[in-house]
Amino acid sequence: MVGPNQPIELWTIDDPVVEEGAVLLETVASEVCGTDVHLSHGRLAGVPYPIIPGHVSVGRVLETGGKVADFIGDPLEPGDIVTFYDVHETCNTCWFCLVAGQPNRCPSRRVYGITYSAHDGPLGGWAERIYLKPGVHVFKLPEPLQADDVIGGGCGLFTGFAAVDRSGLPMGSTVLVQGSGPVGLSAVAMSVLGGASLVINIGDPRARLDIARDLGADVILSVSTDSPAARDAAIRDLTHGRGVDVGIEASGNPAAVSEGLHLLRDGGTYVVAGHYTDTGTTPVNPHIDINRKHADIRGQWGTDLGHVYRALQVLARHRDRLDMSRIIGGRYALDDAGQALAHVAALKITKAIIEP
Ligand SMILES: [Zn+2]
Ligand SMILES: [Zn+2]
Repeated sequence: MVGPNQPIELWTIDDPVVEEGAVLLETVASEVCGTDVHLSHGRLAGVPYPIIPGHVSVGRVLETGGKVADFIGDPLEPGDIVTFYDVHETCNTCWFCLVAGQPNRCPSRRVYGITYSAHDGPLGGWAERIYLKPGVHVFKLPEPLQADDVIGGGCGLFTGFAAVDRSGLPMGSTVLVQGSGPVGLSAVAMSVLGGASLVINIGDPRARLDIARDLGADVILSVSTDSPAARDAAIRDLTHGRGVDVGIEASGNPAAVSEGLHLLRDGGTYVVAGHYTDTGTTPVNPHIDINRKHADIRGQWGTDLGHVYRALQVLARHRDRLDMSRIIGGRYALDDAGQALAHVAALKITKAIIEP
């Protein structure tokens, strides 16, 4: 991705020299996430174009720089199928890391596929090789997971998990998930596993809502064919007029936040997780929607390493009922990465994966 609003180019770069502690992967699959669409429009600050996109990926270990272990201490061997935590180089010495406990705000933070330049090496998943620098946290896929299980949810799996985790979801809660992309679908699945008594998904298009239902949503409502008034009436009806206990915004549409706060019950918890990039503002009535409501509003920007680790364990345990590979709507070779990006941007398919 040479720059915003420019065609994707296919480049040949040198193989990296594998340093002590580093891992070289042969890419099995990477993904096109909504963030990649935003990157292609230049809507993320501080991106060192040209970049190799693809922040969540699955790869096969080709080579390690000496003895290197995965996150839980298992030695990595050539042939192992792994994924890795895309966030790297948080310093664990700064104010944000150590006082605030918010490594996602660490000024040293770098992210594969987003904040590394293509001139720094194959540091993104839309490539035949991915170079994992020393210190990158690597996870062997737990049994029985295959590459498609992990990349099907991809970054959305981890973000959806993080959003539900952030809500503190009390068992027996009614949950509204707004958005039916990979983050929303994962939030639906994790809410069901987390003990929700009712999961409502508002989204579009129909094919995505059907997946939401298969992943456990009890009620699906369309953004386009159910009017806001109809959605409001349906949700009031399902919640004895109160609104939902927990709202999770995973749509990236600012208007969803206005609607979601309105549909939240008094004293409910609302998590905004769909706005990784700035897509604008939305009116909120501070009296009605926050103050009088005792609303507990939380933000979740990306994921912590623990979300990735725990989401993989949950997915492995519940693989039988969570077929995240269903979210994959198309497989694209590297030459077709631009087309994959266009298809995701146009919502033609839910998840495009790149198979170099
Ligand atoms: Zn730091
Ligand atoms: Zn992503």
